[in-house]
Amino acid sequence: MRLGALEAGGTKMVCAIGNENGEIIERVSIPTETPDITMPKLIEYFKDKKIEALGIGCFGPIDLNRSSETYGYITTTPKLAWANYNIVGVLKAALKVPVGFDTDVNGSALGEATWGITKGLENSMYITIGTGVGAGIITNGILLHGMLHPEGGHLLLSKHPDDDYEGKCPYHKTCLEGLAAGPAIEARWGKKGAELADRKEVWELEAYYIAQALVDYIMILSPQRIILGGGVMHQEHMMPLVREEVKRQLAGYIKTKELEDIEHYIVLPSLDDNQGIMGALKLAVDEYQLEK
Ligand code: ADP
Ligand code: ZN
Repeated sequence: MRLGALEAGGTKMVCAIGNENGEIIERVSIPTETPDITMPKLIEYFKDKKIEALGIGCFGPIDLNRSSETYGYITTTPKLAWANYNIVGVLKAALKVPVGFDTDVNGSALGEATWGITKGLENSMYITIGTGVGAGIITNGILLHGMLHPEGGHLLLSKHPDDDYEGKCPYHKTCLEGLAAGPAIEARWGKKGAELADRKEVWELEAYYIAQALVDYIMILSPQRIILGGGVMHQEHMMPLVREEVKRQLAGYIKTKELEDIEHYIVLPSLDDNQGIMGALKLAVDEYQLEK
């Protein structure tokens, strides 16, 4: 089966052709400008590729409620040119194939759960810590949507007593994204994360906030494994700090075999940065089967 996959991001649109086994045959990257400029390029790429369905993992917020009039729209995004934009409708009309749609992080969670390190688990999470923070959640074997979709990057956190940074989120200031995403690190310390590798205090504080969020996710969602991805996690020495800090903050309240083996519980992605695009292939397969 030939399938199309689109990872729609704030800076670039990754388009790929692949199949139902998650194999990627070819891909291109197109800069995200305004819909007027970018959408014709996406359509041009996919239109003669003989795909039977398309899957999209999309930046958000997006409307995933199938009974809503604005299902398939990007909704209140700060990228204003894309606000209230019917991305699914436009691609469906142009390509005339089923179009699966979910958030970018739900796409990554699905890719890993189908072909990667959370395969076979009914409950898992994928958290990306990059320019923003997002959380994709699989509960009882399916992606969690709820009334909209989870916005786990905006979990409200308690400040570390020694941190006097005000927080970067325009809505909440000191949510997880506002305290721990790449731009918050840069604003707090005056340098990009990649240039702060040898500053122990930077990564201890970072681990403190990430762990606080993970403890909350663990308490509410009880995931069987948590994946941490995104540019900030390229700091290899941070993973052990996060694991230690999660154990410290949990304070022994929950005892499971998963937490005892925390190296296999909180893990890095396993699909060579293809988890998002592979997840989009799976969204395509699922939508094809749904519409058949
Ligand atoms: P995006 O979230 O835009 O898709 P990334 O996941 O690569 O992209 O995240 C980019 C953010 O991650 C930037 O804020 C950048 O400063 C930060 N970042 C990238 N590489 C590193 C690194 N090696 N160490 C720490 N921070 C990094
Ligand atoms: Zn926020």
